[in-house]
Amino acid sequence: MKDALRYDVVIIGAGPAGMCAALYAGRSMLKAVVLERGFPGGELLNTELVEDYPGFESILGHELAEKFQAHAVKFGADFRNGMHVTSVRKRDDGQFDTQTSEGDVYRSPAVIITAGGTPVKLGIPGELEFAGKGVSYCAICDGAFFKKQTIAVVGGGDAATEEADFLTRYADKVYLIHRRDSLRSSKILQKRLFENSKIEVIWDTVVDRIEADDQGLVHRLKLRNVRSSEEKDLSATGIFIFVGFRPNTGIITGHAAHDEMGYLLTDANMETSIPGLFAAGDVRSQLTRQVTTAVGDATTAAIAVEKYLKALADGEKVPEIIGTGGYSA
Ligand SMILES: Cc1cc2nc3c(=O)[nH]c(=O)nc-3n(C[C@H](O)[C@H](O)[C@H](O)COP(=O)(O)OP(=O)(O)OC[C@H]3O[C@@H](n4cnc5c(N)ncnc54)[C@H](O)[C@@H]3O)c2cc1C
Repeated sequence: MKDALRYDVVIIGAGPAGMCAALYAGRSMLKAVVLERGFPGGELLNTELVEDYPGFESILGHELAEKFQAHAVKFGADFRNGMHVTSVRKRDDGQFDTQTSEGDVYRSPAVIITAGGTPVKLGIPGELEFAGKGVSYCAICDGAFFKKQTIAVVGGGDAATEEADFLTRYADKVYLIHRRDSLRSSKILQKRLFENSKIEVIWDTVVDRIEADDQGLVHRLKLRNVRSSEEKDLSATGIFIFVGFRPNTGIITGHAAHDEMGYLLTDANMETSIPGLFAAGDVRSQLTRQVTTAVGDATTAAIAVEKYLKALADGEKVPEIIGTGGYSA
């Protein structure tokens, strides 16, 4: 058994939230480490263009990720790439043990979980290949790229219903493709959807394949009716997939309060129901999930960690949270 590596704070995941938390932790002179299973960037590495991050009218996702990382490193951030965290557990002495698949244990009095989430994939040919080339999992991020175009939305829950309606701000025509004969979404969302003349629902149908043109941009979907097995082509330049999004919270050992979708509940300081365990970004229960919200959460979390550690060192009671009266989205 290897000796535990000691830090003030361990940050799990190097997406926008993790990199921002590392920057602030570095500026606070905390001994911090960021454990990332892949390379720093998170969902920014799957994003072609970002056009809604203040100060950058338009920037490639991977360029923004590089800037975030370089900025954090300037303040002393210690990134460990290829470190897959398998569990984070609070010990009886109040310290956390964060374990990686390599068998290393990182011990710290505070942890910030910034592990994001994963959009559920359809698992069909063309989906991964054309991600960012017409395949998207984020309407608010990518909708504006489809002005006056014909696009498709896949799903039948709240996200698909709401985002299909939202996307008609840009697209001339939106097909909502659903594998059943009724939607699971709330009635108010359905009402809005059915009243929107730009939307047409294709029932009992699945997408079997996404096809691209010579330039590698999505231009056609192969559809199949699940009842009749009839196949047909649909011309579309974009396909937005909303069949679920899973927060990456499975690594937490013990009960951390979460909402019905599994997102972590925090107080106003980004602390979860487990004292010393903070959460920021897409992993957290909140109204929207964007780069701006991820870095905002992370700023609060890192500063709250500094105060938490100071209170622990001074033997004080950890400060009460201002204003929320509990754990909320
Ligand atoms: C296709 C797409 C386009 C988008 N476009 C935009 C946009 O234009 N503008 C915008 O504001 N937002 C956009 N978003 C949303 C934005 O990318 C996210 O809100 C943001 O990346 C969240 O940051 P995060 O750090 O919380 O999580 P993530 O970016 O998901 O980062 C989480 C990190 O944690 C790592 N990780 C997870 N589990 C483990 C583990 N067990 N061990 C170690 N590491 C782990 C992951 O590898 C990842 O690097 C888009 C999202 C998608 C999917």
